[in-house]
Amino acid sequence: MVKKPLAKRLFGFSFKRMGKLLLGMAVVLLLLYWWYPLQIDLVQRRPAHPLPVIPPEQIGLVAKGNRVLVITAHPDDEGYYLCGTLTMLKHAGAKVQIVVCTNGDKGFWPFVNSAAIAKNRQKEMREACRRYGTLEPIFLGFRDGRLHADQEVIGKLVDQIKAFKPGYIICFDSDYPPRMSHSDHRASGYAAAKAAEEAQFSGWLMRFNTFGPNTAIDVGKYWDEAVLGIEAHASQYGERLEMVKFSAGNNTYDVGERFGMSQGEQFRAVKMGP
Ligand SMILES: [Zn+2]
Repeated sequence: MVKKPLAKRLFGFSFKRMGKLLLGMAVVLLLLYWWYPLQIDLVQRRPAHPLPVIPPEQIGLVAKGNRVLVITAHPDDEGYYLCGTLTMLKHAGAKVQIVVCTNGDKGFWPFVNSAAIAKNRQKEMREACRRYGTLEPIFLGFRDGRLHADQEVIGKLVDQIKAFKPGYIICFDSDYPPRMSHSDHRASGYAAAKAAEEAQFSGWLMRFNTFGPNTAIDVGKYWDEAVLGIEAHASQYGERLEMVKFSAGNNTYDVGERFGMSQGEQFRAVKMGP
């Protein structure tokens, strides 16, 4: 009598079959990564101790005449994470410039024509900026989903900082990002902070999408208007639009509760320079 292989006796199928299964899973994971390059930390990164809260009045972001440079990865990031703050800045009379590191040529399903997707997303981004009352957005034009915080990206951001001379820089937090987040988000945040350093930026560096918040901007007053910024990115959300708006709103209530305001958007703020 022919004995069955050990693996088949133990697990019910052979190593060869198991190998094929693992290979299949690896291919699926690779495709998923290609589609949405997530970066995953095994453990959530956050400061060892909660950071001392800095009252927003001490930072003074929302005020007339402030020059605010916002650096994001994709043409739509500002909507979900910052629409409230941007709308507050608009009503305060601040001067805001948004710089988007990628051209947005990936977007979401279906990826029929990446050039057309990039064009449409940039058009939506310009419309969003019109609604926030900011300057025309600047696109650095790097490939969506393939952003690396290399010297080329950092150098271009240094140029933007030197040209705009902001008192505030707002960017993704690459030190304490969510455990799972888009690698472009982290790369843009890292490059922005590095560029601030290289440009000898003097002012507040305010990082959003953070697990180490120490301040928040009260965004309750114009929230209904703020979500118009999210709506401008219709091609990214489609039927999910209401859900996305609801989720963004919910976050602001959570942050508001944490920082003692009605609705808030949170940041990790650090003062740089003299
Ligand atoms: Zn994004």
